[in-house]
Amino acid sequence: MLPEEVLRIAADEMLDYKGSGMSVAEMSHRSKVYIAIFDECEALLREVMAIPENYKVLFLQGGASTQFAMVPMNLMTKNGKADYAVTGSFAKKAYKEATKFGDAIAAASSEDQNFSFIPKGFPIRPDADYLHICQNNTIFGTHYAELPETGDIPLVADMSSCILSEPTDVSKYGLIYAGAQKNMAPAGLTVVIIREDLVGNAPDSVPTMLNYKTHVDAGSMYNTPPCYSIYMCKLVLEWIKSKGGLAEMKKINEKKAAMLYDVLDHSELFIPKAAKEDRSIMNVTFATGDADLDAKFVAGATAEGLVNLKGHRLVGGMRASIYNAMPVEGCEKLAAYMKKFEEENK
Ligand SMILES: *Cc1c(COP(=O)(O)O)cnc(C)c1O
Repeated sequence: MLPEEVLRIAADEMLDYKGSGMSVAEMSHRSKVYIAIFDECEALLREVMAIPENYKVLFLQGGASTQFAMVPMNLMTKNGKADYAVTGSFAKKAYKEATKFGDAIAAASSEDQNFSFIPKGFPIRPDADYLHICQNNTIFGTHYAELPETGDIPLVADMSSCILSEPTDVSKYGLIYAGAQKNMAPAGLTVVIIREDLVGNAPDSVPTMLNYKTHVDAGSMYNTPPCYSIYMCKLVLEWIKSKGGLAEMKKINEKKAAMLYDVLDHSELFIPKAAKEDRSIMNVTFATGDADLDAKFVAGATAEGLVNLKGHRLVGGMRASIYNAMPVEGCEKLAAYMKKFEEENK
């Protein structure tokens, strides 16, 4: 979802952006009017996330999936080694991709328990070039409540499904990346936040477009950036700021998630899928244990206007994705429907 307020502003500005005589969708990325939008988006992201001065912000394309390759191509270059925590299907894809470029290992994995928890306290190789984590596991509904201790080893995080959902201490990371389409903007934009010392370490063989240095040097304008998604990201960031920033987002998100987890914890029908201490506040996963009953739940929900509740095909069951833009009332309605469904089907 995108916030309705944001969609209304975008609609109002669609034909004529602030008297410019054009739509943002038509603008040259080199025009003065567009560059002001772009600069404002970066400034807002830096402000909202409190990004320190020694980090660069990049607005790229290719999705989080392209970062699965760009991270090792640019960062697995000192010792040629990287450690991965395999906590879900995206984490596993990132790990598999890294093995193409060097000695990448799964330092920890929860795959044998269907990715239902986050491994903790696992050793990482002292000469690893980085540790990669997927901070919120979108499909399985788990999230790191605490970050792994990596000492001087850079921590790299895929934050596609949790960026902007809670305050983040950016200084704890070497690199953060996120496909913007879950919590920031429409599809097409990928955000990378990279510590300066990690830029410029890629070998010459790395393609120009896949080298972070290219985009740092060109201020994300080496080629045409995803202009319209960046504009929408700016509107979303203005919306977050107006609501009180990330501390307030976290409060609201925790309240929304608690409504659903509370139903699950008091249910004799529904089984929550994620370990309690690792629960995500963005993706709530559960099932009844009976595939036909799950299908009945999803169909009944759809009839009440509660859509997209079918779990990912890899896990089945149900998943409520309750990103920032999901209003509290959406979770209230779902919680009420869950209770009603249990009453009628126990
Ligand atoms: C959705 C998602 C991805 C894939 O993102 P694309 O931008 O489609 O490549 C990767 N990682 C996580 C955690 C996701 O939620």
